[in-house]
Amino acid sequence: MQHSNRHIVILPGDGIGPEIMAQAESVLGRVNDVYRLGLSWEHQLLGGAAIDATGKPLPESTLRAAQNAGAVLLGAVGGPRWDQIERSIRPERGLLAIRSALGLFANLRPAMLYPQLAEASTLRPEVVSGLDLLIVRELTGGIYFGQPRGVRTLESGEREGFNTDIYRESEIRRIARVAFELARLRHRRVLSVDKANVLEVTELWREIVSDEAKKFPDVSLSHMYVDNAAMQLVRAPKQFDVIVTGNLFGDILSDEAAMLTGSIGMLPSASLDANGKGLYEPCHGSAPDIAGQDKANPLATILSVAMMLRYTFKEEQAALAIEQAVAKVLDSGLRTVDIASAGSKIIGTQAMGQAVTEAVC
Ligand code: NAD
Repeated sequence: MQHSNRHIVILPGDGIGPEIMAQAESVLGRVNDVYRLGLSWEHQLLGGAAIDATGKPLPESTLRAAQNAGAVLLGAVGGPRWDQIERSIRPERGLLAIRSALGLFANLRPAMLYPQLAEASTLRPEVVSGLDLLIVRELTGGIYFGQPRGVRTLESGEREGFNTDIYRESEIRRIARVAFELARLRHRRVLSVDKANVLEVTELWREIVSDEAKKFPDVSLSHMYVDNAAMQLVRAPKQFDVIVTGNLFGDILSDEAAMLTGSIGMLPSASLDANGKGLYEPCHGSAPDIAGQDKANPLATILSVAMMLRYTFKEEQAALAIEQAVAKVLDSGLRTVDIASAGSKIIGTQAMGQAVTEAVC
């Protein structure tokens, strides 16, 4: 079913954010025309740019627009200019606040390695070339939010720190459902990662995920302990399709999977709410060291547009068109400096964005 709300809020943000977003917007405009998607969009402020204009990292007007939109597309926020201001109104707070206000509990981190870039990985090309997996991480529960938490002083005077890993059935069920539904758009295989041999909370996790799987008979489910999953990710990462896991394990495994691809400028991500509304953004930050120099790789943001079309707007053909356009441009040997290798032609942010825009068909 198509998402009925076809309006997008674009938050370019800071540093390289506006540069990479301009290119993503160019590609979005092109697919919107070619595939007659009927999407509309507006710009709003977030992060340092919002602090400069309004004094707040997440102005009311931005939040209201994001709440009313079908999807949000974000560049990146933050930079040294705002590092000295009070912690509670720093740019990154704006990002955390918008994620929590929108109830985005499912974090999707694909790790895809275009065969043309296999040399960029630290693993052997034959192990990673063509890698295409998706990690679905629970984002609003588990040990990062569980109570009680803190550091207390014992009678002996020694201090101890403690956190609580806690998941309700309903929280497990809804993230499992997201994973199964996403698997239907891919190769219909879900792997649930837990530590059910040691942690009761993940024993329940395994039980509920297995129960939810009964509603998706066309998707296969398997389970793996997190220590084994960490090993398998570097041993044979191409065995995975969709991996679903809790907040802590997902945090670690998604960074491990990202590193398999060797290039932070290529990785998109999404965070979804219960109705498929999503915030889409590249995995990297605002890269202040290269901001304003036409050096940033816009492909992670462009690929975030593809994710948005696929997961929120259910426009698979248009999403594929973007991914294929990126592949075509890489095939032609064009590279931004971060993904360059011997024999490639180095181009800037704008030229890369234009090459992808022109390759969309
Ligand atoms: P970063 O991801 O911005 O940069 C790390 C390194 O990767 C830098 O050398 C940078 O030049 C390079 N890089 C990043 N994106 C690139 C791209 N698209 N093309 C080419 N090279 C790229 O991480 P950092 O330096 O730790 O953080 C810089 C700022 O970004 C900080 O203010 C941080 O708080 C913020 N940040 C924001 C987000 C976000 O908005 N989601 C995420 C991480 C960091």
